[in-house]
Amino acid sequence: MSQSPAPRPPGTIRVGSIAGSDVLVSSSWFVVAALIAVLMAPVVEQTQPGLGALKYVAGVAFAVLLYGSVLLHEASHALMAQRLGLPVGAITLHFLGGMTTIEGEARRPRDEFLVAVVGPITSIAVGGVALLLTGVLPGGLVLLAAQGLAGANLLVGVLNLVPGLPLDGGRVLRAGVWGLTGSPRRGTVVAGWGGRVAAVAALAWPLAQEALFDTRPDIVDWALAFMVSVFLWTGATSAMTTAAIRARLPRLVARDLARRSLAVPSDLPLAEAVRRAQEAEAGGIITTTPAGAPVGVVSEAALMATPEDRRPWIATATVARTLVEGLTLPAGLTGEDLVRAIGLHPASEYLLVEDDGSVFGVLVTDDVERAFSAGRSAD
Ligand SMILES: [Zn+2]
Repeated sequence: MSQSPAPRPPGTIRVGSIAGSDVLVSSSWFVVAALIAVLMAPVVEQTQPGLGALKYVAGVAFAVLLYGSVLLHEASHALMAQRLGLPVGAITLHFLGGMTTIEGEARRPRDEFLVAVVGPITSIAVGGVALLLTGVLPGGLVLLAAQGLAGANLLVGVLNLVPGLPLDGGRVLRAGVWGLTGSPRRGTVVAGWGGRVAAVAALAWPLAQEALFDTRPDIVDWALAFMVSVFLWTGATSAMTTAAIRARLPRLVARDLARRSLAVPSDLPLAEAVRRAQEAEAGGIITTTPAGAPVGVVSEAALMATPEDRRPWIATATVARTLVEGLTLPAGLTGEDLVRAIGLHPASEYLLVEDDGSVFGVLVTDDVERAFSAGRSAD
């Protein structure tokens, strides 16, 4: 499938691609890589004394290795999604880990489950292999790296299974509730609340740490807990909001929202075109070539801005927008596809055509927005 290149989010650089998906690294990652290098330096020095400034290089190398394993986790999501026919956007590595943008919703709970669960399985597998390596490696810096990778990946794999959005475990829970109730929406609400509970638990973690292990939490513990908590709470909330919006989308059907249109020659005086449209009770005007092929759609705003006493003297084409690419849409467009088509080529009016190319009517963006807002009260 051909895809127009997605705009790269600000503050990221592209480092390559996996199975057609761009791999981006956020600038925040470099801060973390430097931090890891500094934090690791004393341990590196202890393991392999006499490295000098090279000990920082070892720390950066470890950071690259660590995020390489995060990339494997994200790539597993992307590959599974692609296999199941879901379009995948970019994979972004940032300071808290990684993120894979999957455009579009899973069609079945089973697909949602599979895309979500491969991530933690991959991390646990990588962690397991690294753990086995620690048993055979002779020692030195490679052993240190293997220990680090084992610990980090097992932690990432297990923590990601916590059943709350936006974590992978939240998507597993969502798939489960969806499968049981038949409602993806209900699945999101349950998993979203799971995420909020996890957010509160993360915030309380330093206290639990004190009670369980008798270690006094310091400022770093609290800062980390706060960051993770905010990440979970906002992720859960945005997943729930998106689901509420998505639930209203199926009610948007281009064909049902279309206004009946009237076709007039481009050079017809505007006043006459308006008179004919009123007579025909048409809600939209299309301008055509002398041969009758549509070339433009009249902008209601431009028409309204034209004083009535001027309308007999100007051609209808002057208030029409030329039908460039994206302004002609299939009448069969619905829901998310319709919203995406409008977002791709924003305009106030569109020409709707049937599959055979014949004109169906005019779609006014305001009508779409009104229909969308009307759905809100029905939620
Ligand atoms: Zn994941």
